[in-house]
Amino acid sequence: MSEELRRICLLCLQEKVIQNSHLLPAAFYPDLSEPTAENPNPAIVSKEVAFQSSRQLTADALCAACEHLLNSRGEDWVIRHRWQRKKGFLLREKVMKAKYFITDGSLTAYHLAGLDNVNVSKLVHFATGMFWRASLNVWTVNRIKKRFISVGKYGDDFRRFLLGEADFPSKAALCLTLSGQPEPLLLAKLPHSVTRDGYHLHSFTVPGMKFDLAVGNQIPAKFGTMGLTSAQNKVIFVDDALDLLVHESVRKVTRNTRMVAGLRKHAENHRKQQSEEPNS
Ligand SMILES: [Zn+2]
Repeated sequence: MSEELRRICLLCLQEKVIQNSHLLPAAFYPDLSEPTAENPNPAIVSKEVAFQSSRQLTADALCAACEHLLNSRGEDWVIRHRWQRKKGFLLREKVMKAKYFITDGSLTAYHLAGLDNVNVSKLVHFATGMFWRASLNVWTVNRIKKRFISVGKYGDDFRRFLLGEADFPSKAALCLTLSGQPEPLLLAKLPHSVTRDGYHLHSFTVPGMKFDLAVGNQIPAKFGTMGLTSAQNKVIFVDDALDLLVHESVRKVTRNTRMVAGLRKHAENHRKQQSEEPNS
């Protein structure tokens, strides 16, 4: 093995042989391709850039043991349960067998108590791993090394949680919203943040799933009392309007960037399709 790849692994902090690893797991890339489109490459959007290319976002950051830990404690399960073009959306099928808890407009919260086959700890580990890796200053975009979000002083708390050395940070709360649409918007929005009064809200989207992570001293009660990490009410939300909201947020990003025409067309077509189909 080559000498220059021995470095400190950013997860276990030990000197190891470092692997080239993905920010967005490679298994999601085929879901992001529309084979019949003019440009069949994956559609990926971040706060500043929209790109539609077959290049995958990778960095040399973790050792093989830590990669394996992220796979086995979260990623593998989420990948098996994600929305897939030919297989449907296994996670949503399982969640919608639960009793709904609250419904409000397009949004329904499903209570996970008693649902043994929805593995909340795997969902939490996967999402935390995505947010934590996005906070590392190792990703090269337009030849510049960058981080996508900053989790400030909580970075080490998340790192130790991922290793199983600490509980999920008490100053953080995680929510998951699933698309209620038969075919979700086929794009990924990489982790990005907004600053609110007393906390930061970080989010990312893969087809059919949006994860939100609130971090700070003054997280609103709604995050604490309902969500994946809530002690009171473990719920997953299903929202018929999720794709429209994601589409709107992507339009805002892409207005400010050199937008790939095919990606814009794809999002517009999806919006049209949804407004034509009655929700069932
Ligand atoms: Zn490691």
